[in-house]
Amino acid sequence: MSSAATEAGAVLLAGLVGLAVGSFLNVVITRLPRGESPLQGRSRCPQCDTPIRWRDTLPLVSYLLLRGRCRACGGPIPWRYPAVELVSGLLAAALWVKFPASPLLLAYGPFAAALVTLSFLDLEHFWLPDVLTLPLTGLGLVLSLILPHLRWYEAFLGALLGGGVFYGVAWGYYRLTGREGLGLGDAKLLALIGAFLGVQALPGVVLLSALMGAGVGAVLIWRERAGRLTPIPYGPFLALAALLHLFLADSPLVPQALWR
Ligand SMILES: [Zn+2]
Repeated sequence: MSSAATEAGAVLLAGLVGLAVGSFLNVVITRLPRGESPLQGRSRCPQCDTPIRWRDTLPLVSYLLLRGRCRACGGPIPWRYPAVELVSGLLAAALWVKFPASPLLLAYGPFAAALVTLSFLDLEHFWLPDVLTLPLTGLGLVLSLILPHLRWYEAFLGALLGGGVFYGVAWGYYRLTGREGLGLGDAKLLALIGAFLGVQALPGVVLLSALMGAGVGAVLIWRERAGRLTPIPYGPFLALAALLHLFLADSPLVPQALWR
């Protein structure tokens, strides 16, 4: 086989691994808010409680074959299932292209999976659970001691400042307005991002997430016209900004002043 074909095969394989990982992330996103273990028991249809057959759990394929409906009761399968699988598959393929066969995948793979899981939990439940953010921040710090992607003090400063600065902003906003604009979950997510991307990534990630958040917020207000404040979760903007940083920060197409 030519080397181009081998490379394409490796990217495809990474994408398939990503689809399978996405399938597991869906189980986590569904069960964690209910206090259930993602590791025990078969998945069941949320409408009719029928256990889902193995052949109906193939990522993306089953959703398409079943046309988005439960085989037993015909109830709709939430769009989140194929969305998480597709995003995970594409991210895994993109990570392989960016870091082919690199040990850094041991850090950025779990990091990307964490960002996807936390984004969808925040979208559905406005919840960035400590049970994910805290141990994963610890994992990022440990990996910074082992892998060459960061100097360890960049990771530790990133976690400390990411958590601390955002906590300060959340506290200040609350004291000034009496409303909770940013949750402590956002502070812990930024600590996680700081642990994996380093302190030098924080200004760019905070700025970019704020711009995207303000943009989406403005569109929502314009569409509703009434001006009623729709609460939107901030976690997905932080996660998206972190992924953009991971993939693009060293790209010659992006002005470095944006990030540093
Ligand atoms: Zn059903």
